[in-house]
Amino acid sequence: MEELLDPALGSVRVFLMHDDNKARKLRHNLGHPRVLTFGGAYSNHIRAVAAAGRRHGFETVGVIRGEERLPLNPSLAYAVACGMRLDYLDRDSYRRKDTPEVVARLRERWGDVAILPEGGSNAAAVRGCAELPADIPVPYDVVCCPVGTGGTLAGIAAGLPEGKRALGFAVLKGAAFLAGEVARLQREAYGRVWDNWAIDLGHHFGGYARTTPELTAFAAEHRVERVYVAKMLLGIVGLARRGVFPAGARVVAVVTGQPSTPVAAWGAPTGFDSGEPR
Ligand SMILES: *Cc1c(COP(=O)(O)O)cnc(C)c1O
Repeated sequence: MEELLDPALGSVRVFLMHDDNKARKLRHNLGHPRVLTFGGAYSNHIRAVAAAGRRHGFETVGVIRGEERLPLNPSLAYAVACGMRLDYLDRDSYRRKDTPEVVARLRERWGDVAILPEGGSNAAAVRGCAELPADIPVPYDVVCCPVGTGGTLAGIAAGLPEGKRALGFAVLKGAAFLAGEVARLQREAYGRVWDNWAIDLGHHFGGYARTTPELTAFAAEHRVERVYVAKMLLGIVGLARRGVFPAGARVVAVVTGQPSTPVAAWGAPTGFDSGEPR
């Protein structure tokens, strides 16, 4: 298994496990003939739902935050090429997308649809991600993942064997609320909350889709996606430098996203103004 090599790691070993977490989150969410979901114009989740719809033969509707912009960016063009139909909500309505009025409006327009939340995090998604630890091919002490909406971390922690821990790295600034989200998602999925996980709030590098010269350079050097993965990896290095992991600890870092997707093609433009996970 590929390892992250950095002098600051000392005796801590970091194994890189590639995993398409958005696809995993959808696995137990399939079965309805028409699925509607939400995301920003560069949403990984929107693409994952569109791709699942094409592969498994269900209709998909993507409700995108903001105005329609033509030509479509590569991310939305891919979704449409998969057969997804797009709808748009202005930013104010988008903020209220989970309210009964907005939901009623969407159901009126799109009929009988199963609605998946933004980022795809619901109880079924958590159960999908709980299957991840069983796929880890090396001995380990800690599993790390980036945290956008918290569904991936909630599932990984729920699926860990006794004695192992999960550590998430928040990609949003001011994300103290995420711990409550992870707990809520575990409770929704399993009726209980685990105490084997934590969220690091100190490596957001300015916030969602923001960057710093250090983050940009690290992402380029290691050829990893910048919005989620580079933040987690730099976070692991930073914590190792501070002695947070015991000597000789074995860390599995979940490199989320689609390995086949060229990073440059999908990366949100610098300064992308959203504070919300995609
Ligand atoms: C969505 C996403 C995450 C975060 O997953 P959550 O379950 O929303 O916390 C991490 N990495 C990538 C590449 C993603 O697309």
